[in-house]
Amino acid sequence: MEMTAPGTKRSNNSTPPRVLIIGAGINGCGVFRDLCLQGVECLLVDRGDICEGASAAPSRLIHGGIKYLETGEFRLVRESCIERNRLLRNAPHYVKPLETLVPVRSLFGGLLSSTQRFLGLKVKLNDRGLLITEIGLRLYDFFSHAIQTLPNHRLFHRAKLLQEVPLFDPSIIAAGVYYEGRVTHGERLGLELVLDGLHAKPSSQVALYSTVSRSETGQFKVTDQLTGTIRAIEADYVINAGGAWIDDVNRSLGFATHYMGGSKGSHLIVDHAELFNVLKGRMVYFGTTDGRVNLAYPFFGHVLIGSTDIKIIHPDDAYCSDEEIDYLLGAIKEIVPTIHIERRQILLTYCGVRPLPRSDGANIGEVSRDHYMAHDTIPNTDIPLVSLIGGKWTTFRAFADEASRYILAHFGIKRTHQTENESIGGGRHYPITEAEQVDWIGTKADLYLCTRPRMAELLYRYGTRAENIAASERDIGYQPLITATQYSRAEIAFLCRNEWVNRLVDILLRRTEMAMAGHVSLPLIHEVAEIAASELAWDAERKRAEIESTIQAMQRRSVRMAA
Ligand SMILES: Cc1cc2nc3c(=O)[nH]c(=O)nc-3n(C[C@H](O)[C@H](O)[C@H](O)COP(=O)(O)OP(=O)(O)OC[C@H]3O[C@@H](n4cnc5c(N)ncnc54)[C@H](O)[C@@H]3O)c2cc1C
Repeated sequence: MEMTAPGTKRSNNSTPPRVLIIGAGINGCGVFRDLCLQGVECLLVDRGDICEGASAAPSRLIHGGIKYLETGEFRLVRESCIERNRLLRNAPHYVKPLETLVPVRSLFGGLLSSTQRFLGLKVKLNDRGLLITEIGLRLYDFFSHAIQTLPNHRLFHRAKLLQEVPLFDPSIIAAGVYYEGRVTHGERLGLELVLDGLHAKPSSQVALYSTVSRSETGQFKVTDQLTGTIRAIEADYVINAGGAWIDDVNRSLGFATHYMGGSKGSHLIVDHAELFNVLKGRMVYFGTTDGRVNLAYPFFGHVLIGSTDIKIIHPDDAYCSDEEIDYLLGAIKEIVPTIHIERRQILLTYCGVRPLPRSDGANIGEVSRDHYMAHDTIPNTDIPLVSLIGGKWTTFRAFADEASRYILAHFGIKRTHQTENESIGGGRHYPITEAEQVDWIGTKADLYLCTRPRMAELLYRYGTRAENIAASERDIGYQPLITATQYSRAEIAFLCRNEWVNRLVDILLRRTEMAMAGHVSLPLIHEVAEIAASELAWDAERKRAEIESTIQAMQRRSVRMAA
């Protein structure tokens, strides 16, 4: 746990309000930034690291959600398209356009069933024909027009498709081609929202690996899970951004809610050159015979495949099962039957729980992905609490804007800062065109005395915040890690000192792409642990425990660790 300043006792009604935000997933981080920008002091608490829940487990699409057109969720799709386009502008370092193919197997398939689904009837849609796909893509273009950052859709007919993707199953007769966004370093984007928030309101605080409860006298207590330290804090408003754990968080505050009903979803990252080459940089977003929609696209030189959608009772029980791995590998066979993926080619699996509203009896795949706020009052007080339910990664800004407006209105505070066009972290002053990038890299490489390839690598990994790492490498000396030469000792030390690293696993899973990109090995874990131990003053026992728990975390994600 880390706090920027000790909590202060609230003395009288003229004291500016303080908001307690529980949960540092993308929604908690988003609302933290928004309120800090308005000058409101916040305390952000998470029982783990920033973006380690569902926000670390999505398909990593920043997307309109074309499949939600089938259920008539036009408001959600329109908002998502607009937010996607905003993120492409505001976080260009991490959110990139993704050309997408939707394979089609018939001309008129799905007309009846999609009309029935649109009318709210529960039917499977396992054939989305060319006509339905064309209607959907036209609507999608229409919703994207409000802020146009991506080209309109087009079609690949059979001849073009054969030329572009000859290995597709021969029953695929055409494909819709359109654009989405993908987020490369989502966990870092969450972190940057928090850093931006603290920059705007330095008296706000962040407490990671910490939980909130209430004492017998009704005071809020924050317990540091790593040290056991307990401290009392005061808050005038509470935001429960606990995702799939929202009901658990409310219970820890002394009252029972039954808002949530999650569904777990798993992904695989596979090291498969042939599949990677088939994709040619594109995503394939394809319906499978069970009526679901799955996806595969290139990710850090490998292929990301997802996802399952399975009802789950408690989010802590989510893991990627053998059956889910079989299902996802089988789904790939439906579009490229000649490709065989061996289990040994799986680099990493990950699983998360969609924080969906409770919907007893409904087919989990059909529960709305829209967001809602539920309002309560902390028992025996007049302190309001709002729970942020549902939502997509893509729409975090809009959700934060909505929640923040609500809270500002409660306190009678004027909204002074809009976030629609607010750049995030290393997306600020980011060089967009190739020429601008060459220029930026050359100038900064000269300034920080590093090579151009190194500066380009840091720009890719940290956006314009790369300057901080380059400065650190210049001051401390550039020394690549022995076990993964694309990272440096000064870089890891910088992350430990400046980005709330509490656990070794934070570095491998969330501050860097080490695990996602398949760079993890046992020697790497030991080398990074040695730097972290020195920076964070861990004794030998703590270092050993961190290595042990990191190995376990990697094994849970099926990471094969070469010795
Ligand atoms: C399989 C899958 C695929 C998805 N794909 C996409 C996609 O491609 N695009 C898209 O836009 N969206 C996608 N989503 C949805 C998106 O990931 C989620 O809607 C979003 O991340 C939810 O964020 P959140 O902040 O509400 O929840 P979370 O990220 O889960 O955050 C909740 C936080 O609360 C913390 N917490 C829990 N209990 C406590 C406690 N007692 N005290 C303190 N803290 C606590 C947790 O540690 C966690 O950090 C996907 C989701 C899943 C699961």
